[in-house]
Amino acid sequence: MNRLFSFVFTFACLAIWSINSERAYVHDKLVRLEPFTDEHIHYLQALEETTSLDFWTEIMAPNRSVDVRIRANEYDQYVSQFKQYSLPYEIIVNDIQEVIDNEEKELAQDRLMRQIQSRWLGEAEPRIVGTYATYKQMETYLDEKAAADPTHIKVIDIGKTYEGRSIKVISIKMNPASTRNIWIDCGIHAREWITSTTCIWLTEEFINEYNNRDPIIRQILDKWTVYVAPSLNPDGYEYSQTSGNRLWRKNRFPTNVLCNGVDLNRNYPWKWNTGGSSTSACSETYCGRSAGSEIETQNVVKFLESLKGTWDMYMSFHAYGQWWFTPYGYTTGLPKDYQKQLATAQAGANALTAVRGTKYAVGSISGLLYIASGSTCDWAYDSLGIKHSYTIELPPTQQQSNIGFVLPVSEAPAVCRETYVGMKEFLNKVHEDTAQ
Ligand SMILES: [Zn+2]
Repeated sequence: MNRLFSFVFTFACLAIWSINSERAYVHDKLVRLEPFTDEHIHYLQALEETTSLDFWTEIMAPNRSVDVRIRANEYDQYVSQFKQYSLPYEIIVNDIQEVIDNEEKELAQDRLMRQIQSRWLGEAEPRIVGTYATYKQMETYLDEKAAADPTHIKVIDIGKTYEGRSIKVISIKMNPASTRNIWIDCGIHAREWITSTTCIWLTEEFINEYNNRDPIIRQILDKWTVYVAPSLNPDGYEYSQTSGNRLWRKNRFPTNVLCNGVDLNRNYPWKWNTGGSSTSACSETYCGRSAGSEIETQNVVKFLESLKGTWDMYMSFHAYGQWWFTPYGYTTGLPKDYQKQLATAQAGANALTAVRGTKYAVGSISGLLYIASGSTCDWAYDSLGIKHSYTIELPPTQQQSNIGFVLPVSEAPAVCRETYVGMKEFLNKVHEDTAQ
């Protein structure tokens, strides 16, 4: 018995060590599955619900492919199941760690260049616009923006995370008389680094273009105070950058003795746990113990509710897939404002596409993709009553998912630039709609 206990204990320690070691994805594979029956779909849904398999793309319907990361030590077991179910599969990436190592090398070079540049320019800190910054660097960036224009720009600490970091939001209030607000958040899913980079880029451009008297941005920022939250999940973000677990998605709350993390975008207190999320504490889409159970969720809910009735737009950035989503996620039913939302989002997507041809699909979450309950987008629309509530999934597309979440940093500026152009036109259209 003692020998059995020590064997199990040693195995558990090894398993935890392998998860937390610096190179967590050696020989992990990205596998593309081609389900073609309802039975295949139900099997995959059960896997997502009950295991910690990491689905990179959503399980939709027969004849829509699904990409999943399979750990090296579980690969044979799953492949024999796929064969048993006659489920076609192919390996897209043979060793995910290699993709991550390449990204790391490129990022290290990018950081070095930025350090050299800052020394050359005599600046205290390297510039972070257009790169994957640390959370600390983003906090410093926000503080610097506020210090440069304290009359109009403030940094608000909306509350602490589980590990005690502050969730910071920058408010840009160019017109002291404005009473209406808009909200943009990023990084609720830790590994979607490009989203936080986008939030910083938008902040930079809003301020620069306002000061350069761009007429559209003047109109937008004279009407609204803009709130930007570069990371709604700083613990997860930090963990994804420093622990070797680049593909970490959730927050860092210990959910049971073996697992950490609640999917914050399944934890919002609206139609919580009504589909498209998991009640298993180790699942990548674990919805938490109760609606709004997570401290990070509570902070955001409290802040947005404190200004309820003043919000004209809510936008949450995710990656990846190139989708511009409207509500709903929890039901295939459409909200009463759907046609207006669709037209507004389409205007933004068209402007974005015009920059360099990047195409987005526009429509409701459940209509285009899948049922997902407890997301911020539905909560913002139904619970906060924000007519213009959206979610954007940044590049790449599923077809390019041999990189997926690991978008090379050299591609970040182009993604941010086109997204800014799309957002500007989109906000212009929201402005027109809310002026009436
Ligand atoms: Zn996401």
